[in-house]
Amino acid sequence: MSNRADIAIIGAGVIGLAITAQLAKAGRQVYVLEKNESFGLETSSRHSGVIHAGIYYPQGSLKSKLCVAGNRILYELCQKYDIGHRRSGKLIVATNDWEGGELEVLLERGRGNGAEGLKLISRRELKKLEPNLVGVTAMLSPSSGIIDSHALMQYFIAKSVEGGAQIAYKTKVVGVDKVSDGYEVIVEDSGGKSSFITTTLVNSGGLYSDEIAEMAGIGIDEADYRLHYCKGEYFGLRRRQGTKVNRLIYPVPPSDIAGVGIHITFDLEGRMRLGPDIEYVDSLDYNVDSRDQKLFCFLVRKLLPAIEYEDLAPEMAGIRPKLQEPGGEIRDFVIRDEADRGLPGFINLIGIESPGLTAAPAIAEYVAGLIEGYI
Ligand SMILES: Cc1cc2nc3c(=O)[nH]c(=O)nc-3n(C[C@H](O)[C@H](O)[C@H](O)COP(=O)(O)OP(=O)(O)OC[C@H]3O[C@@H](n4cnc5c(N)ncnc54)[C@H](O)[C@@H]3O)c2cc1C
Repeated sequence: MSNRADIAIIGAGVIGLAITAQLAKAGRQVYVLEKNESFGLETSSRHSGVIHAGIYYPQGSLKSKLCVAGNRILYELCQKYDIGHRRSGKLIVATNDWEGGELEVLLERGRGNGAEGLKLISRRELKKLEPNLVGVTAMLSPSSGIIDSHALMQYFIAKSVEGGAQIAYKTKVVGVDKVSDGYEVIVEDSGGKSSFITTTLVNSGGLYSDEIAEMAGIGIDEADYRLHYCKGEYFGLRRRQGTKVNRLIYPVPPSDIAGVGIHITFDLEGRMRLGPDIEYVDSLDYNVDSRDQKLFCFLVRKLLPAIEYEDLAPEMAGIRPKLQEPGGEIRDFVIRDEADRGLPGFINLIGIESPGLTAAPAIAEYVAGLIEGYI
């Protein structure tokens, strides 16, 4: 690395890598700084792997716009570059009339957001599509699916490297100072501390993005950037007769939308998984509490009654970087140039929880638009 960059990107998760792939091109010095020894070791490998359609999020929000755009771009990328995926479709299943009413509200919201092909289906149609499920009605989302997020990140890396970007692993950003022609970024690696100057700086530090904003002098409470860690556990599900499903299966979500409810997903090999639940936590602990197995089983049996307690096994957990406080208002992604705080060309991405994986390529285009004027 030289001591001068045009663009420095903090974090080699799916967001930082998508942005790098978008911005890297000949003649530009682009650096990615990642504290871990490889890419995508944090939230970007601890999720459901679902390509969302854009149903749940408030109309006009970045979450809804970037999810709908990201869904379309992701399928194009997957087809063009042979990235593992499956457009399986998804069902949100109502188990009583009240939930049926909520589904109608969700249908309107999803259509307003531009989610493709949504429709309500009757109990009979549901039985035909998914004989093992019980429900009074359901919403079918044909553009939902699953993706191999590791392969997606590998694609972004290949494109970044082809464009001349350099990725520095085991390199932790420990300081950011505004200087006359950009930002001095102080990093710590095996050789100790060093620094370089960059014209623009992108903070895609995931769970640590609020701390990184603070390094640059932004008061995180004043700016309302404080992140709350919100854990989501998953249990693997062993197959047995009567538990096969062909689509992603979701419950009607709780009204506060802190999450979308414990759902039934599968990976590209067909392994089934239940989760994630929601628990605000104080520290980054990825253990799964086996005592939660009972509740998971109880909740999912409402949709798929053939499941038995012993079919479940603790699998993994992810932690959402949430701006939404426990019991608080739903919050949108923060993706902004901090010029009005005296930090032009410092782009913060904070609270990039779900649907961040889906939105990643659309977020990258959005950030490229913010950076354009500076380089
Ligand atoms: C339980 C769960 C389920 C989800 N399910 C879905 C889903 O089905 N579909 C969907 O679209 N989205 C989903 N998401 C959301 C999605 O996983 C995230 O939005 C996405 O992975 C965020 O990527 P990121 O790059 O912002 O963060 P991360 O993957 O956390 O990457 C941030 C990187 O920054 C690095 N970093 C941090 N601080 C520093 C520093 N000081 N110096 C250097 N490097 C640093 C970290 O080491 C890390 O590698 C889910 C999330 C969770 C938690």
